[in-house]
Amino acid sequence: MSHIFHRFPGNLPPVAVAGDGVFIIDKDGKRYLDASGGAAVSCLGHSNARVRDAIITQGQKLAFAHTSFFTSEPAEELAEFLVRRTPETLTKVHYVSGGSEAVETALKLARQYFVAKGEPKRGVIISRERSYHGATLGAVAISGNAWRRAPFEPLLFKSVQIAACYPYRGKQGNETDLDYGLRVANELEREILAREPGTVAAFVAETVVGATAGAVPPVEGYFKRIREICDQYGVLLILDEVMSGMGRTGSLFAFEQEGISPDIVTIAKGMGAGYQPIGAAICTQEIFDTINSDGGFAHGHTYLGHAIACAAALEVQKVIEDENLLENVRAVARYLSESLNERFGQHPNVGDIRGRGLFQAIELVEDRESKRPFQASRKLHAVIKKNAMQRGLMVYPTGGVADGKAGDHVLLAPPYIVTRGE
Ligand code: PLP
Repeated sequence: MSHIFHRFPGNLPPVAVAGDGVFIIDKDGKRYLDASGGAAVSCLGHSNARVRDAIITQGQKLAFAHTSFFTSEPAEELAEFLVRRTPETLTKVHYVSGGSEAVETALKLARQYFVAKGEPKRGVIISRERSYHGATLGAVAISGNAWRRAPFEPLLFKSVQIAACYPYRGKQGNETDLDYGLRVANELEREILAREPGTVAAFVAETVVGATAGAVPPVEGYFKRIREICDQYGVLLILDEVMSGMGRTGSLFAFEQEGISPDIVTIAKGMGAGYQPIGAAICTQEIFDTINSDGGFAHGHTYLGHAIACAAALEVQKVIEDENLLENVRAVARYLSESLNERFGQHPNVGDIRGRGLFQAIELVEDRESKRPFQASRKLHAVIKKNAMQRGLMVYPTGGVADGKAGDHVLLAPPYIVTRGE
């Protein structure tokens, strides 16, 4: 009997005891190919010796020093490493321990920025349908995922959701990608104009949608228009790259491929690759200076800038760079996408196969013609996962919001070290 409040009711999951590259090994010696990186986390696989040594070395020196008293070498080095690789407007790294904390931090940065700037009426957050931004209350409040919100509605602050950029389900008739992208981006302008001027603080979006819509990249031009609208109305653009960032799509940040830069970007999963819990919100110098001119950020978690976590994440990022792993991401991604299309492209229950980099998904439908989704999403996910695990394969079935507007999908996000053979 386990005393853990496990994620899913029912049978206990297998006990993981070891890692070996892209494999996790359970107590009985069974090997599971981690084709989803857990949930797009384990970008270096499970037994990287350089990261292990970095954790040990830092642990022998200093595990933790509270950041209200000290900074630390690994925290400073990691921030410098990251800032050198972000667009030059993004200069300040606020550390956290995971994705939800990164999103909460971004929301509070946006809000306090406007308070400090003398625009206290700016408190509205606009986000998108079919989005997932985390499990904490602020993150749930802006996430467009009906069943995750439902039990907690009375606890959530009010936010506004516009349509996602989700061409498989949203593009109409003979609309081109460009027309479609502009149409859905312009919903942001419509929402801003529908409110009293100067009341919207930020627009939040996943650059490539992860867990709720299933590795959906934006169409060309969508984020350029979003950036324009945000600039025109003085609204901050927060891109949530907790899942899609840190190399997952073939560039360090997914937004690089859109030709724009946000005011705040959130990162987490690929940052520490699962070797340590760590995340960050990276913001502009202007946000940092404005908040500091008002006495500093009224926010901060105990474990922010944890020395061992920072040492691990720094080594993860150095390994990715030293071993040129983003090149592998791009090369294997092409092969993965071709193979998925070849193998499943004509399957009667496959509606769409899409993604970017090593971040791909197969959308499942009950009826291909009408794109009708399955109704019993959670049951379907459980069956897929059980069958895959029996065969020694980890995939991540998710999505499906029971309102008929989105399908279920199987997310694939293998480690960047994965080979074609694997
Ligand atoms: N934002 C996005 C885009 C995510 O995909 C997730 C997790 O899947 C989160 C935020 C929340 O991250 P965490 O589970 O580390 O709190």
